[in-house]
Amino acid sequence: MAIEVKERSIVISNGRSGFKLRRYILKERNDIANPAQAMWAKQSDIVTVKTTRLALESGTVPAEWREPWERMIREFVRDTITQEWIESLSVGGEAIAKDVNRLQRKQFDFDSTMTSVKAWLDNEGGKMIVDLTTAQMNSTHALLQNQIALQVTSPYVLQQRIKPMVGLTQRETIAVSRFIAALTEEGVSADIINKQVARYAKFLHKNRALRIARTEISNAYNFGQINAIRQATVEGWLPGTPEKAWIAGGIDPCDICLGNEAAGYIELDASFPSGDDHPTTHPNDECAVGYRVRR
Ligand SMILES: [Zn+2]
Repeated sequence: MAIEVKERSIVISNGRSGFKLRRYILKERNDIANPAQAMWAKQSDIVTVKTTRLALESGTVPAEWREPWERMIREFVRDTITQEWIESLSVGGEAIAKDVNRLQRKQFDFDSTMTSVKAWLDNEGGKMIVDLTTAQMNSTHALLQNQIALQVTSPYVLQQRIKPMVGLTQRETIAVSRFIAALTEEGVSADIINKQVARYAKFLHKNRALRIARTEISNAYNFGQINAIRQATVEGWLPGTPEKAWIAGGIDPCDICLGNEAAGYIELDASFPSGDDHPTTHPNDECAVGYRVRR
């Protein structure tokens, strides 16, 4: 990479890091998306007629669903997400180390095992388990209540309604429910409705899995990069004070990301206008960060 000297600043990494990140996401995304879909399939297998009867009787998510769902989410975050976070933040951090070393022909080595990274992994992992679990309980509970309000009293019918929805967000569940209502109104037979619902739900599951993959890889990658800069600063590898700038990515970046980009270069430990230290600021965020040192 050409070293760009502007006034008294030296660019460490620029917009090209955004391309690197997006290429990395394309390569890695199925490592998260496939296990996510496999988990939802396993979770939906637990929705049997027998356990649906319990849900119908209590009007809420039964322990027979909740407990295995929670366990599977914990395992997914620990075995898949956390591993992919570690890999992504290492790759992001190493890319920065390469840029730093090119700058001054030095031997800075990014350490992905430092305490701040461990604390981040624990914290983010715990948060993700709670978020995924809460979202799943809420959306299933809402769907259950909705079906009860629609006078669904057969555990067979209810099971067929809930099973394909396991793993979808509440918004997605509502979209499928509306789809079912529209088909019912048109007089479409239950058999065909179930087939169409299965197809629609499959599409939504795949999209959600990819959305989670893109977001988690990007978040960890960007976290690894800022940590590499912090480490390089502490260890004295940088020829000045580091600064960062948000680089809005994607075809049509949103106003939040454009607002962050408009802030220009800010201090390393300052927050961008959205309140974030680095991307992502929302699901599917494709932004990256450029770094430079001020002398
Ligand atoms: Zn963005």
